[in-house]
Amino acid sequence: MDLNHNRSVKLNDGNLMPVLGFGTFAPDEIPKSKANEATKIAIDVGFRHIDAAYLYQNEEEVGQALRDKMADGTVKREDLFYTTKIWATFLRPELVRQCLERSLKKLGLDYVDLCIIHVPIAMKPGEELLPKDAKGEIILDVVDIRDTWEALEKCKDLGLTKSIGVSNFNHKQLEMILNKPGLKYKPTCNQVECHPYLNQSKLLEFCKSRDIVLVAYSALGSSRDPTWVSSDSPYLLEEPILKTIAKKHNRTPGQVALRYQLQRGVVVLAKSFNEKRIKENFEVFDFELTAEDMKVIDGLNRNYRYDSMPFAVDHPYYPFLEEY
Ligand code: NAP
Repeated sequence: MDLNHNRSVKLNDGNLMPVLGFGTFAPDEIPKSKANEATKIAIDVGFRHIDAAYLYQNEEEVGQALRDKMADGTVKREDLFYTTKIWATFLRPELVRQCLERSLKKLGLDYVDLCIIHVPIAMKPGEELLPKDAKGEIILDVVDIRDTWEALEKCKDLGLTKSIGVSNFNHKQLEMILNKPGLKYKPTCNQVECHPYLNQSKLLEFCKSRDIVLVAYSALGSSRDPTWVSSDSPYLLEEPILKTIAKKHNRTPGQVALRYQLQRGVVVLAKSFNEKRIKENFEVFDFELTAEDMKVIDGLNRNYRYDSMPFAVDHPYYPFLEEY
């Protein structure tokens, strides 16, 4: 990838994905209108890849931002790359299309660029996003991820999404899809948690060998949402080594964390709803980390996961017991 000139990567289905994406997940207490304002700023500063999901419950606001930016002539639909995700309560094959169509309706769009299976772990179908039993525990469901995949292939054939992929899959789960008899389309990408404390080097190597793009989420150390992330987790952007490298390049630790992913061939997402930081996060195409910087950052890996989805550890498709 020539990162100074080439800001997109070609997926295995021929479609292009911009290598830097704007994340739209925010904890519940953040007003949904912030997602609208921030997405418009992101498009104004140059982001063309927008990462969203049915789960985030702000696709109406994000969709309005996209439509406003198309209406004022800043972008055309074909300039944008919009990702949505099929949530865990819709993994039964007969529900997949319904989830995607609900997202499209909220967005006010007639197709998305990418639709991915959010997690391999299914939850009980229904209107509750996190269905819970009397003890307050999440009610899981078991759905063969190959059946979910076939339903997603049909969504692509219907033109509801240009590309299809997965998220939070380990390499064995990717293999299950790749080896599925009658496979029509390979996953184009696997979106996973990835940052210097969890650099996913083995999964990245596996994905590259199968022409699957690895997309990094929580690349800046996550939103630290207490619903998912423990309060004693390490602050990535306070990491002294990232600070030292940033200072040397006259950049910020956040920019170094994003640039690190781009230089190893990872598509990277960055969430910020703050104007200054949204701009800062886009300024990662005009400097380069040295081979030595990259090696030092690789050395920070400690396989630390901000969100390990502990509620699903006994589920047959729990993805994080495998090494990668
Ligand atoms: P992230 O991108 O790692 O970081 C976001 C946090 O860092 C925010 O609290 C943000 O706060 C702060 N921040 C952003 N830029 C900064 C900078 N330059 N300097 C200092 N702080 C900065 O967060 P994430 O939301 O976990 O991941 C990004 C996106 O990935 C999500 O929004 C979502 O689209 C996707 N995602 C997907 C999954 C999945 O299961 N597939 C899971 C998690 C996330 P401010 O807003 O105040 O700047």
